Amino acid sequence: MKIGFIGLGNMGNPMAVNLANAGHEVAGFDMAEVSVSGVTLTGSGADAAKDADIVITMLPNGQILRSVANEIIPAMNEGAVWVDCSTVDVDSARAVADMALAAGVLTVDAPVSGGIGGASAGTLTFMAGGSAEAFEKARPLFDIMGQKAVHCGDAGAGQAAKICNNMILGVTMIATCEAFALADKLGLDRQKMFDVVSTSSGYSWTMNAYCPAPGIGPQSPADNGYQPGFAAELMLKDLRLSQQAAESSDADTPMGMMATELYQQFVESEDGLGLDFSAMLPRFEKRGRN
Ligand code: NAD
Repeated sequence: MKIGFIGLGNMGNPMAVNLANAGHEVAGFDMAEVSVSGVTLTGSGADAAKDADIVITMLPNGQILRSVANEIIPAMNEGAVWVDCSTVDVDSARAVADMALAAGVLTVDAPVSGGIGGASAGTLTFMAGGSAEAFEKARPLFDIMGQKAVHCGDAGAGQAAKICNNMILGVTMIATCEAFALADKLGLDRQKMFDVVSTSSGYSWTMNAYCPAPGIGPQSPADNGYQPGFAAELMLKDLRLSQQAAESSDADTPMGMMATELYQQFVESEDGLGLDFSAMLPRFEKRGRN
């Protein structure tokens, strides 16, 4: 298959490499200077998209996605498929899907879970929104870049699933960290706390698989000085998307709102920038109730 790949950053680079290694002809473009093994670099997004059967984008945000849409849709063939794997707001995902549809281009919004490790190992999970026809055409590429792809519904449904999942993630990470800090103050041993909670009704992915306390549970960024992993600023980006979506759909999400405020404070006014999102635990450790 002929593939155009636009946005060859931390995630896009290894995803494009996996497609090239699987024998696809990949033409890639990034604003920044990059080198990607097995991928032919082009001078513009439109050049990468031209004549491609499938175009994949992996970009920072919805505003950039909208500008790239203006560039690539006119260059794409009718019946070609555009798969956007970026995490963006639902409104941008739906707007670019409408633009593409008007030009006869099929679309799938397919944000991912699994991080840079999953992108390199080809074990991402894709949450996809779009027509059944578009999803089926993209599926062979999901199978190369990931281990699971869920067709969540029409355009925007993939972004909706990603945003809801990550709102739960942000809220549960904060709950897990504040519970550890409370346990410390109560003189409860952290290992005992883990042993109980990880097998009781307080268990969660943040406790069981990504424990924010160093030396407890499976290996996680806490065991590596809170180097990301999943950076606090990326968590903040996704929480903001959840609040933007809640606002535009009139949903009441008080915990999501509080998590957004806490991560904003952590990233912008405390020392969270550049740290993993689980570094909320040392933040709580330093603080008292007032
Ligand atoms: P990144 O900043 O490393 O990569 C984005 C790339 O897009 C950069 O190389 C940038 O130069 C390029 N770019 C920006 N504007 C462009 C344009 N107009 N044309 C071409 N290229 C352009 O970011 P990343 O970590 O690869 O994340 C990409 C997306 O994946 C984001 O939406 C992020 O939220 C999402 N995501 C990231 C992770 C993670 O762990 N890093 C996990 C899941 C989802």
